Amino acid sequence: MKPLLLDHPPELWLLPCSEKYRQAQVADWIFKKRASSFAEMSNLSAALRTELAEAFDLAPLTLVTCQGDGGSTRKYLWRLRDGSLIESVLIPATEALYGEKSDRMTLCVSTQVGCAYGCHFCASGLDGWKRNLSPGEIVGQILEAERQSGERVNNLVFMGMGEPLANFDSLMSAIETINCPEGLNIGARHITISTSGLAPRIRDLAHYPKQLRLAISLHGATDEVRERIMPVNKKHPLRELVDACLFYQQHKGRIITLEYILIQGVNDSLDQAQKLAQLAGILHAKVNLIPYNTVEGLPWERPPQTTVTAFAKTVQSRGVTATVRTEKGGDIDAACGQLRLKTEQAAARQE
Ligand code: SAH
Ligand code: SF4
Repeated sequence: MKPLLLDHPPELWLLPCSEKYRQAQVADWIFKKRASSFAEMSNLSAALRTELAEAFDLAPLTLVTCQGDGGSTRKYLWRLRDGSLIESVLIPATEALYGEKSDRMTLCVSTQVGCAYGCHFCASGLDGWKRNLSPGEIVGQILEAERQSGERVNNLVFMGMGEPLANFDSLMSAIETINCPEGLNIGARHITISTSGLAPRIRDLAHYPKQLRLAISLHGATDEVRERIMPVNKKHPLRELVDACLFYQQHKGRIITLEYILIQGVNDSLDQAQKLAQLAGILHAKVNLIPYNTVEGLPWERPPQTTVTAFAKTVQSRGVTATVRTEKGGDIDAACGQLRLKTEQAAARQE
């Protein structure tokens, strides 16, 4: 396979043309004019275009299917050059994750093929971990989603398939390209990294100079409950996670978001709500409550609306900002990893 041009930020490209302005022209074609081939780069000589096409691949992925249409949530299933499948979800402002109205166009991006962390409720980890995405495969999801939808993405959440902080170097390299003015020019404050709780990597992130947003997939307010559904808690228990979050906040001064899926009979008791409020208080964090999106083949269920409301009220009554995320993607398999899983299961049935 040829090297992927997008695997490095534009300032590190080793193009056959060494002149700076030529490099800037190529970056302009890719990130501003959204060219999908070197052949389109009409202000480069034909010889150079051929040379570039011989030296590099431009497209890291191709579209397999898109669910959803128009101004609503769209879910893209992509095929990578080695045949692996990953997903991205485009979420327009009215359906934005944090419920605020704005011109926000959010893309939920994957960072790995599969996931090694195996949270018991999640479709992404069901088949285990296959490999890390390269920086170009991360950046390519944005470019291709924009091309397919005709929209401009201005907000990114690393909440697709995979554990972003377990692919730290590729993630950071992709963020350089996403953030730099000659790249996609999306501000760090519009980029959210979600983690299941890799405490040492949260500390690494605290040393990273950009002001990225951090979301923690907590899903349990005590070790006992968290451990039942998230094996990562055995390696990095709550105490270690909370310490790492405090360290992050001291270094960054950024508000952390605690993501909390509500699963019936598992983590939806009012006792958990009180303990969640306590943790949020210690961390000065806001809380996002997400009624569980059922996954075919898994036993977990979403609690009734009355339970969700009572849980939210209990958290809020302790002075914590908590919102219930209305799940708009349920009908298009928008929960992480579900579309890929279905496609692979269908393919396996055909074999
Ligand atoms: N690995 C990272 C980022 C990807 S998962 C992490 O876990 O944070 C993105 C979010 O989707 C996580 O908060 C995850 O817990 C949540 N999620 C996974 N399966 C879900 C489901 N079936 N319904 C609702 N949320 C789900
Ligand atoms: Fe992996 Fe996140 Fe899914 Fe857990 S919730 S299995 S860490 S993608």
